[in-house]
Amino acid sequence: MSLLITNIGELVTNAPRGAAAPGPFATIADAAIVLDQGVVAWTGPAAAAPAADEVVDAAGRALLPGFVDSHAHLVFAGERGAEFAARMAGLPYSAGGIAGTVTATRAAGDEVLRSNLARLAGEMLAQGTTTFECKSGYGLTVADEARSLALASEFTAEVTYLGAHVVPAEFAADRAGYVSLVCGEMLAACAPVAKWVDVFCERGAFGADEARAVLAAGAAAGLQPRVHANQLGPGPGVQVAVEAGAASADHCTFLSDADVDALAASRTVATLLPGVEFSTRSPYPDARRLLGAGVTVAIASDCNPGSCFTSSMPFCVALAVREMRMTTAEAVWAATAGGAHALRRTDIGHLGIGARGDLVMLDAPSHAYLAYRPGVPLIAGVWRAGERM
Ligand SMILES: [Zn+2]
Repeated sequence: MSLLITNIGELVTNAPRGAAAPGPFATIADAAIVLDQGVVAWTGPAAAAPAADEVVDAAGRALLPGFVDSHAHLVFAGERGAEFAARMAGLPYSAGGIAGTVTATRAAGDEVLRSNLARLAGEMLAQGTTTFECKSGYGLTVADEARSLALASEFTAEVTYLGAHVVPAEFAADRAGYVSLVCGEMLAACAPVAKWVDVFCERGAFGADEARAVLAAGAAAGLQPRVHANQLGPGPGVQVAVEAGAASADHCTFLSDADVDALAASRTVATLLPGVEFSTRSPYPDARRLLGAGVTVAIASDCNPGSCFTSSMPFCVALAVREMRMTTAEAVWAATAGGAHALRRTDIGHLGIGARGDLVMLDAPSHAYLAYRPGVPLIAGVWRAGERM
């Protein structure tokens, strides 16, 4: 079954015409696209489009690759609306609020966690996210981390073991004991259902040596590294990420020149999470400094119940443009191809030949409307692997 979408006002491909791999931001005006067997078979001017079994008329709307949200924490119970309200009233954010979510998550049945996850995954899809990553990190026991990852794997292939989120209260007097658990019995239970290992390398969470131990143990168990780095202040997170060959260093809010240089010289993507700075009323990362240095930049939601409870990539794109001075093209590339790089995926985030048929149609004539009309529901259609959702 083939599908032709024609009369597209602006087709964002993120690939040179005919290419089979992601490239820089690229568009085709007055375009068409053909999907066959769930993948991109052809793109080009609408006037030259081949026939297909089914035809959709985009009526001049823009069409983009589906958003790739490479950073989300969706397995949890409870909510922290009062904490948010208090923070907006002037109290500072600290990572300590995670403990409340851990208590609620441990107490919740699988059905509660699954239905919360399903609701958030549904929100993401409705807002154009066709691939998302999902972390554990609110269980922090062997059984609760393993079940968190098993639940996440029901919804996505991009599953991340984050036993090293914070040291849970019962290990407050035995940090080393907790790190040993994360690198030992907990990892053994989690590795079979995870693809990635992550660590919150930050003051108040885990230091450089602890983070290195977690990433090395994860790698030995077959998991690929990614790191929460330099969110709350300067620190060793980015250097640890680059040293470990991490796919991504996430947050990157407080960076030294050496951090920027290390990222620029590596394959590690800088994933910026501007929803966090918005929701914690904090300074935004310096996206222009990273882009100017040649660092690959991704944007993701960091959807989580504490520091940022948005699941909306369009909102994050608008923040990236308005608050981080990214161009609309840079922001849309970062939310699609950038996310794919951060997940080391070549089949998503672009619409080159052979890419997965993951598409977002905007009720707007160009990608710029994602930032030009913030907060407006612009998603007119979503396709995943060629299937309309
Ligand atoms: Zn996070």
